[in-house]
Amino acid sequence: MSTVRDIFREAGFGKVAPWVDLVNSGEWNGFGQFTDHLANPHWLATFLKHWELYPFPSKDVPRRKLEQLRNLLRRAAEKLTAGGSIGRSELSALNQVLNVPAWQKLVQDQNGFRAETIPVRSNWTWVHARIAASFGEMLANQEIERIKVCANSDCRWVFQDPTKARTKRWCEDRTCGNRARVRRARARKRKA
Ligand SMILES: [Zn+2]
Repeated sequence: MSTVRDIFREAGFGKVAPWVDLVNSGEWNGFGQFTDHLANPHWLATFLKHWELYPFPSKDVPRRKLEQLRNLLRRAAEKLTAGGSIGRSELSALNQVLNVPAWQKLVQDQNGFRAETIPVRSNWTWVHARIAASFGEMLANQEIERIKVCANSDCRWVFQDPTKARTKRWCEDRTCGNRARVRRARARKRKA
């Protein structure tokens, strides 16, 4: 029997970073059908658990705030993958989300010491900051160069390109890539 977590992984979530999952939570299936996973409490719970965005905040889910952050991150990712840079307004909006009081704590366990960042308040604002921080870390580590937005305009799934030459254009060659090839072949036939 597959668990909620298996379904989450099979659907392509939980692979790259929290911010990628949030952006993809507004999912276009390639045929013009839209699913908003933020409306699904199971998806949201699995998302928070998978990325250890603990402690679990209150049950009052700030849908609008999450949607705003999702739009902001998609806008930033699309600008970056189109070869540009994120704009001043996106940077300042991201910094606003990141501006959450926290302190550093030194923890010792059987593996030695580690530094932990502890929020002053474990609430949704902290979760938003963690999601935004996962984007910031990829930017700072130049990992963002591997991030692609599917070339199928009906899909726009955000994914990490595993190829060395970074040549992957579609989230899934069998579905999105094939559809593009079929379209091109048809266009060629029409021209001939
Ligand atoms: Zn796609």
